[in-house]
Amino acid sequence: MTQPVSLAQAALRGFTMRCPNCGKGHLFRRFLKVVDHCEVCGEDYTPQRADDFPAYLVIVVVGHVVVPALLAVEMAYAPPAWLQLAIWLPFTLFASLALLQPTKGAIVGLQWQTGMHDFAQSKNRRSANSAKSTPSTDTTSLKRQALT
Ligand SMILES: [Zn+2]
Repeated sequence: MTQPVSLAQAALRGFTMRCPNCGKGHLFRRFLKVVDHCEVCGEDYTPQRADDFPAYLVIVVVGHVVVPALLAVEMAYAPPAWLQLAIWLPFTLFASLALLQPTKGAIVGLQWQTGMHDFAQSKNRRSANSAKSTPSTDTTSLKRQALT
């Protein structure tokens, strides 16, 4: 792909668990396991180092939703503790598991687009390819102009 991918586009493609480069191939081979190479464009994803950052982000987001909601329900209805636990523990578990893989995908997309870790080599390669494609387009247009 010679067209550059923006940071937001790479993160969004990662969040939807697609290859940040082409947007078509799968980014994960199973839960939280990033593919080595994209099945469509062949982009190398072995340099990704998301580590614990997706988990921290998920804790921050889910925590900022669950804690105020729990306190609001407590202030408004004062339900028994077992009912609060029965509502919020499964919600927290489900929300965390649902957000973890898309968040990891977005982080991998950000690392890929910004050239973090060894993604810098593939980013330089992409830049070189897009730089090569621009003059060839110009050459083609110059040939067309020469023919007319
Ligand atoms: Zn791809």
